[in-house]
Amino acid sequence: MDLGIKGRKALVCAASKGLGRGCAFSLAREGVDVTITARTPGPLEATAEEIRKETGVTVTAVACDITTEEGRQQALAACPDPDILVNNAGGPPPGDFRDWDRDDWIKALDANMLTPIFLIKATVDGMIGRRFGRVVNITSGAVKSPIDILGLSNGARAGLTGFIAGLSRKTVRHNVTINNLLPGPFDTDRLRSNLKTRAKAAGVSEEEMLRIRAEENPAGRFGTAEEFGDMCAFICSAQAGFMTGQNFLMDGGHYPGTL
Ligand code: NAP
Repeated sequence: MDLGIKGRKALVCAASKGLGRGCAFSLAREGVDVTITARTPGPLEATAEEIRKETGVTVTAVACDITTEEGRQQALAACPDPDILVNNAGGPPPGDFRDWDRDDWIKALDANMLTPIFLIKATVDGMIGRRFGRVVNITSGAVKSPIDILGLSNGARAGLTGFIAGLSRKTVRHNVTINNLLPGPFDTDRLRSNLKTRAKAAGVSEEEMLRIRAEENPAGRFGTAEEFGDMCAFICSAQAGFMTGQNFLMDGGHYPGTL
């Protein structure tokens, strides 16, 4: 299936590794020129080079912290008028809410709520003017099914989800859709480092914890960044102009509810 986005431009945030990288690859395979960001230059440039080699599209790498105003300006200077925006950043740390002060909350809100909102603010009117735009926010399965120790993430992402629910109904008339993609367990560095902590606490090996958690999922495995990226690319396709304000959960069936 041709997704009809060849020649479009995408800004994919936090994309040297994991889910963001998966999205950048899938969009590039569809012929989209991508600007990718991450804080650490080495892995970012390595990913940029891999994408260039495999797909032949134009790849621009911007090493910056996307959760800061300065970082966002750097990313937008490299890609001022994206047709596609994939919002992503690292997730906040786990913990007990009694230990979090105002700074912890502001950091989480900056990363997982305000950064996507400011990037949308900077790009959405251009998309509306060109009558094509696709925004995908990488959030979390925890939006549907909150995880107690991830209170900072639950709170910040719920705020973003509420905001998007309103805005997305205002832009779709102009062929600009805004949707959220909710990962369950995907095999990335973040998942592995989270499970390392859990393995230590449970007194089992890392490999054993990985096996247990994969087996617990109805799919009997974790998701892959490639699957996630391909879903993102479809949401960004020309064909997906009638879907907006949705929360697409990809979790192998882990969430048990009917809705
Ligand atoms: P990952 O494998 O750790 O990759 C994170 C990527 O984001 C890296 O490229 C990292 O590069 C970049 N990054 C982190 N903070 C950044 C910042 N402030 N500015 C720019 N780039 C930044 O993580 P992931 O598993 O793909 O997770 C992506 C998002 O999905 C996170 O918000 C996570 O909480 C959420 N999520 C993931 C899962 C899962 O199972 N994997 C499940 C639910 C939710 P640098 O470190 O070099 O900046």
